[in-house]
Amino acid sequence: MGKMVRSVLICAVMLMLASFTFAWNDVGHKLTAFIAWQQMTPAAREAVIKILRAGPEDSNIPAYFMYGPEPEEARKLEYFMLMATWADIVRERALDARFKKYHKSNWHYDDTFWKQVGDKAEILPNAEEGGVAIDRLIDFDKVLRNPSATDKDKAVAIAWIEHLIGDIHQPLHTSGRVTDREPKGDQGANLFLLTPEGTPREKQSNLHWYWDSIIDRAAPLKGDACEKDYLESLGKKIMKKYPVSSLSSAIRLGEFDEWRKESFALNPTDVFTPDLVRFQMPSEKYKKHAFNVAERQIALAGYRMGQMLNQIFATAPVAATPAR
Ligand SMILES: [Zn+2]
Repeated sequence: MGKMVRSVLICAVMLMLASFTFAWNDVGHKLTAFIAWQQMTPAAREAVIKILRAGPEDSNIPAYFMYGPEPEEARKLEYFMLMATWADIVRERALDARFKKYHKSNWHYDDTFWKQVGDKAEILPNAEEGGVAIDRLIDFDKVLRNPSATDKDKAVAIAWIEHLIGDIHQPLHTSGRVTDREPKGDQGANLFLLTPEGTPREKQSNLHWYWDSIIDRAAPLKGDACEKDYLESLGKKIMKKYPVSSLSSAIRLGEFDEWRKESFALNPTDVFTPDLVRFQMPSEKYKKHAFNVAERQIALAGYRMGQMLNQIFATAPVAATPAR
């Protein structure tokens, strides 16, 4: 087979594997993982891939590693990016046992109830039990640092960490905005509709979906470009626009709840802006701004994830960095 043909085939297979995913949607999650990977030392990359491939069989985590003609390093990166969406892949109900064991709907967010007063948030007591993303991040971080934890447990922990760090950087995964219309919160703006009142359910769009999918709607994959090339060029663009050096004081490794608070703080200032109107699609200006905010959040999430994994796996025995 010619090189072109093989590469097209690999693209097609990766797209098929990626087709059962949700939000941030898979582009947002994979970009976060791409950026993390660029931060990771050879030792951390090696350790993470080895553990993922030793994951529990019924999670299918090991099965997503691709064999093929591509260089091994490229396949490891694709695997690492895909695993950032595993927590969404397991939403697939057709695989009943996997769904029942691994799908956890309230792990994907960590919402604070609040009322908007101008560009400020007035924090309210939560009206119902909400998301637990931060608690899970804290737990999974401990699993990875526990020398007696098994690789099976660590593989699941890595997949969740890859996903949850992304999720909590989407401001609406931290928000339950209370209004007269939504006295029990708006479910991360899932109830904030952007389509005209009375639009049938299957044709409705809401603000949560809008933010989850902002990256690939503002910078779509063009023509017959391969998803892999698309992610790489977009990831590099984001890293150039928001270089790690410009965000290094913001990284605050391990301060998961601070990351959440910072994401939450974007809601009154950058998500629910005065020009945003219910039952209307946001303007081009809003879209541009939302895209910028999302790019910065994805950069931060990626840098944090990469540095966290470096810290955890710093002493992995396969370090390839020469001594100075
Ligand atoms: Zn999620």
